[in-house]
Amino acid sequence: MNHMANGEDVLRAQIASMLKAGLETEITPFPEDSNAFAQLLQRIREEAGSVLEKKLVIGGFTDYPMGEDQQRCQECMYYLNHRRWCDLPELDVPVEPDWWCRLWHI
Ligand code: SF4
Repeated sequence: MNHMANGEDVLRAQIASMLKAGLETEITPFPEDSNAFAQLLQRIREEAGSVLEKKLVIGGFTDYPMGEDQQRCQECMYYLNHRRWCDLPELDVPVEPDWWCRLWHI
């Protein structure tokens, strides 16, 4: 059996270490309506593009659940459980189930 990490695992570990190292991400404001949500997506497209660190910063990533409701990727509509992946096209990154970002949606 081969336990070597694949590319997605390597990238997930890289993101985890960036967050653990204290990367300052924009966890507020949480987009309160669909207009604010769309504007945030537009910002990610225009300012981050495919640059990983900028996606994490503008997305407001954390490596822990957020708020009283303990929101996290696991319950987000964009989370692909079998792949541990964020399927929101503007993000499109590997995640862990107990992470969070401010694009969180159910
Ligand atoms: S949108 Fe944010 S909270 Fe939802 S799965 Fe993607 S990274 Fe996690």
